[in-house]
Amino acid sequence: MRESKIKKRERAQEIIKRLWTIYPDSRCSLHYNTAHELLVATILSAQCTDHRVNIVTKDLFLKYKKPSDFAYSSLENLSRDIHSCGYHNQKAKSIQGSSLKIVEEHNEVVPNNINELVELPGVGRKTANCVLGEIYNIPSMVIDTHMVRIMGLLGFTKNKDAKKIELEIMEVFDKKDWTSLTHLIIDHGRAVCIARRPKCDECILVDLCPSTSL
Ligand code: SF4
Repeated sequence: MRESKIKKRERAQEIIKRLWTIYPDSRCSLHYNTAHELLVATILSAQCTDHRVNIVTKDLFLKYKKPSDFAYSSLENLSRDIHSCGYHNQKAKSIQGSSLKIVEEHNEVVPNNINELVELPGVGRKTANCVLGEIYNIPSMVIDTHMVRIMGLLGFTKNKDAKKIELEIMEVFDKKDWTSLTHLIIDHGRAVCIARRPKCDECILVDLCPSTSL
């Protein structure tokens, strides 16, 4: 049976409420001190675990302290320094290119709007929304693999395209919850709704999920 928009919004609110009860400390798990460090960490996190990124950035941010250090570094050295995050050559190019643009066109300040952020080399909507939500407190939604999968399981989207999902989910969840939703869903995806073996029998959302195996 087709779910009305009102019912869907009520279910979304209840899902957020319950997820907060089991993940009260949910937040971005990447370590950073500045907007630029978060930008770099987010670029590194593509196809890599946040745990691995945090290990790499611990030394990286001691060596490269500001955007200009990344912008004018040797690409070869930077690539070597981030090697264990995977796709290191491409990621080094993205980090150096975006840092250069930030230094030369934005006075060393990471832009605070999506249009300028996505114009930075190697920065897509996912990275841009992460920076907007975490740094500038602008309600934003990061659509990562957990969000695509679990929003689908919860019946909030049938789309696989991140931008379409983002717009669809924004209609259902309250604006104040957009930024935290991703972190809550990532926590749930890691602990309970695990890809290929979701633990529906342990899930706090079981009565709200159309895909439960129970
Ligand atoms: S009930 Fe199962 S499929 Fe649905 S969110 Fe929970 S673990 Fe995932």
